[in-house]
This record gives sequence, structure tokens and C-alpha cells, in this order.
Amino acid sequence: MDCHTAFLQGRGPQSVLKLTRALRAIFGSLSGVNIEPVACLSDNFAYLIWHDGTRKALVVDPSEAAPVQKALQQRELELCAILCTHHHWDHVGGVKELCEGHAGLPVFSSDHDVTRIEGVTRGLADGESFEQLGLRFESLKVPGHTLGALAYFVEDAVFTGDTLFGAGCGRLFEGTPAQMHASLMRLSALPGSTRVYFGHEYTRANLAFARSIEPENGAVHTRLQRAAATKNGTTPSTIEEERATNPFLRCAELSVRAALGEGFVAASEVETFAELRRRKDSFRA
Ligand SMILES: [Zn+2]
Repeated sequence: MDCHTAFLQGRGPQSVLKLTRALRAIFGSLSGVNIEPVACLSDNFAYLIWHDGTRKALVVDPSEAAPVQKALQQRELELCAILCTHHHWDHVGGVKELCEGHAGLPVFSSDHDVTRIEGVTRGLADGESFEQLGLRFESLKVPGHTLGALAYFVEDAVFTGDTLFGAGCGRLFEGTPAQMHASLMRLSALPGSTRVYFGHEYTRANLAFARSIEPENGAVHTRLQRAAATKNGTTPSTIEEERATNPFLRCAELSVRAALGEGFVAASEVETFAELRRRKDSFRA
């Protein structure tokens, strides 16, 4: 088994580091890849990905077509593929219109979502890879928010849709707490330097919740101050930053368990995660 396969089977970050080095050896330096958020709807992010020296671009999660088309025009880019993290309308609402202007456009999603997203041309199994723009993308199934949720890992970046947010995670619309916790642990096992491109700008509200759970966590306070001061969005974060500040990745920490009450000190990580998610659902800063 090569290190790439080991990563896809959920092995540790060391395997991923080896993978990253191997991919760099094959595909060259990480420099020259541009990833730019495109604000959509009230708080969604679509993302454009393109390579220096080319005029072709991918888009991840086009919630609506108009802002994506405008961003492409401004940068004189031509759309060459669409990547969908899951079937919710606020992530795929622009797919049909974008396809109408680009005959034969490849549209990727989880194989689970092929019948739920109009226009998908390729459904991906867990761990499948594909190439676009000379970059190798890996699919990582992360069920929980929805059963078809997929993250895309490329170079040193991961697109997490509504699974992992800045300092938070998505609601459980279709999956179980055990599924979502396992999905978050897979993402948390990526190299700490991996940039996390998430689907919504919820970071400040999420950090307010994180502070209520871990008031002694200095990294949460620092990140909250930084998030409050920025006029731009908070995307991307890094896996390292999420491990330090995101309570949903910190279910093994005694500080998180103790905050939930004595009964959770000896609880499982999944039980702790489920209680955190339940409390976040009704939390008001
Ligand atoms: Zn969603």
C-alpha cells in the first residue's frame, strides 16, 4: 500500500505528509495555485481555483451563478469544472445556469448525490482521485451534515463544505453524531498546515460558542479578537488552528467534557460531540 492509499483509508497525518511530499515530487511546487473565495447569498463561499499562467478555473460550491460569472470575467478566466460538496441548494444553486453556458462541463459530487444534484457528470467514491488544471484532487467522504457530504483535498488545501466550519461544524441533517464525529476526525488528521476552505462565514458566532465551552482557552480568545477585527471573511483557516480552537474537534479534551457537566468527564467522544452539537443548536451569543 502506498502512502496515498494509506491516507484514503484514514491513516494518520504522517502518511498524509508523505503523500504531500510525493505529490510535490510528481506535480512540482505548490506555488502558483490561486484559491479565491467568492461571496454568495448572505454568508456562503464559492471558491475559484486556478493555476498561474492558465486561463481555466474550477469552482467549488457555486451557490448562485451571477457572482461566480462576474468573478470569472474580472479575472479573464474560463470555467472548466464544478466541484460540489453536497446537495443543499445554497451550495449548488448555480450549477444549472453555469452548465448552460458551458456545454460538456464536468460536474463532480459524491456518488451518493448524483441523483440529488442536477447536472452531475461524475459521482466520486471515497478516496477517488481525479485531475483538473494539472492538480490532483482527492475525494474524502465526510457524512454527517448530509449523507453525501464530500470534502476535496488538493495540494495543501481542503474544501469542507458544511462539514467543518471555522471553529464549528454543520448541523446533523441526515447523519448520526457518530458519523459526523468520525468525519471531523478524518479532517482533523490532515496535516496541521492544511488550509481549510469552509462553506459559510459563521466563524465569529462559532467562536463565541467555543469561548462559552472553554473560557480558559487562550487560542479561542486570540482567534475571536482576530475574527472580530477583520473586515474580510475568515476563510481559510488551518487544520492546526481548528484543532486548537474548534470544540467539535476537541471532544477528547477534559476541559471540553468538564464544561458539559460531571456526567461527561467519563463519556465517549461521540457522546461528548452529540451534547456539544445539541447545545450549539440552541446557543445564542
Ligand atoms: Zn448544507
